[in-house]
Amino acid sequence: MKRIYLDNAASTPTRPEVIEAMQPYFKNCFGNPSSLHFFGKETSNALNDARSKIAQMLGARDEEIIFLSGGTESDNLAIFGTAYANRDKGRHIITSKIEHSAVLEPCRFLEREGWKITYLPVGRDGMVDPADVKEAICNDTILISIMHANNEIGTIQPLNEIGLIAKENDIYFHTDAVQTFSHIPAKADEYHVDLLSFSSHKFYGPKGVGGLYVRKGTAISPYLYGGTQEFRLRPGTENVPGIVGMGKAAQMSMLEMDAQRSYIASLRDKLVKSLLDIDGVRLNGHSTQRLPNNINITVDYVDSEAMIINLDFKGIAVSSGAACVSAMKGPSHVLTAIGLSYEEARSSIRITLGRDNTEEELSYFLDVFKDVVNNLRDMSPVFQERRPGSR
Ligand code: PLP
Repeated sequence: MKRIYLDNAASTPTRPEVIEAMQPYFKNCFGNPSSLHFFGKETSNALNDARSKIAQMLGARDEEIIFLSGGTESDNLAIFGTAYANRDKGRHIITSKIEHSAVLEPCRFLEREGWKITYLPVGRDGMVDPADVKEAICNDTILISIMHANNEIGTIQPLNEIGLIAKENDIYFHTDAVQTFSHIPAKADEYHVDLLSFSSHKFYGPKGVGGLYVRKGTAISPYLYGGTQEFRLRPGTENVPGIVGMGKAAQMSMLEMDAQRSYIASLRDKLVKSLLDIDGVRLNGHSTQRLPNNINITVDYVDSEAMIINLDFKGIAVSSGAACVSAMKGPSHVLTAIGLSYEEARSSIRITLGRDNTEEELSYFLDVFKDVVNNLRDMSPVFQERRPGSR
C-alpha cells in the first residue's frame, strides 16, 4: 500500500546522508571520547566538529552546547538545573499552559516541592502575551520558560520580546525550540535566551540525541552525577554516532533552510485553503505566526481518533497531537488552553508536513480525507440531527 507520512512533528525520517555520516562511528571509530589515545581523540574530534556545527546555527560558542539524550532531557536539565542552582535567589518560575509535558511535568514536580509556578494563559491563537510575562515577575522569579513554537498548533511565540523582558529583569530565559531548531532561524542573542533545547529526530537526525544551549555564565547544576563529560553538566559517555548524525543533519538544514521552509509553507498554504473549503473545518493556532509545516484543524462532528484510524487504513499518517502523551485520556491541554471545548478538542487533528512530501501526496490525502470525513459524519447521530435541513 502507498503510505503517506504527515506526522513530521512527531518524528522525521533520518536522512540517508546522516546515516552515512554515522556509519564509521558504529564500526572502526569506536573509542571513548574521554580516552587520551588515538581512538579517543578520533571520537572526541567528531564530537567537537558536531558541537561547532550546532553552535554555528545558534550563533553560540562551542562550549555553550551540551549534548544530551533528546528534547525531554534537555527541558528537564534546563528547569531542574537552573531551579536548583538558583534556589537561594528565589523559587518562582514562569511558564505557559501550552508547554510540552517535558517542561510542564518538571514544573509540577517543583511545585510539589514548594516552588511557585505561574502557568500563563494564551490567546485563541496560542500566543503568550509579553505583558502577562512582565506582570507575573516577582522578586522570587529565577526562570522564564516559554517554548519557541508549539508542537500541536504551531504558533510561534514572540521570543525576542519575552527574552528582552527576562534580560531587563535579570531572570534566566529558557526556550524549548524542539519544533523550530533547524527549521526556522534561531540565534541565541537575538532572542536573549540563556537556555535553548533541541532534539535531533525532529530535524532528520537520529532519535535519542539532542542538546541544550547554555549561555556562558548561566548558573546551572547537573542533575545526574558521575564523570566530567559535557563540561560537567551531563556525565556519561556520549552517544557518538548519534551526535555525529545530529551535527550532519544540522549542517544540511542550515544550507537548505530557506528553500525548504518556503517549499513546505507553500504546500501547507495550499492544503489549508482546500481544507477550509470543507464545511465545519477550522484552523487552530495563529494564521501567520506559525510553523511552516503545521496544520491543526477542528473537524466538526468527527472524532479525531476515528479520523486517524480511518486515514491510517488508507496509508496516511496524521496525529491528534503530541505522540508522547497519546496514551493519556482526555482532550489536549493545548487545545483547551486556546479555548476549544472538550468536544472541539476531541475533533481536532494535526497534519505536519516534511521535506519529502509532494503536491501529489497532498492531493491524494485531500481526496481520502474528504471521503473519511463524509463517511464518519454519515455515521454520526449528532451530525445527522444537526445537519442543515434536518428537523
Ligand atoms: N518539546 C517539544 C516541543 C516536543 O515537540 C518534543 C517531542 O515531541 C519534546 C520536547 C521531547 O523531545 P524528545 O522526543 O527528543 O524527548
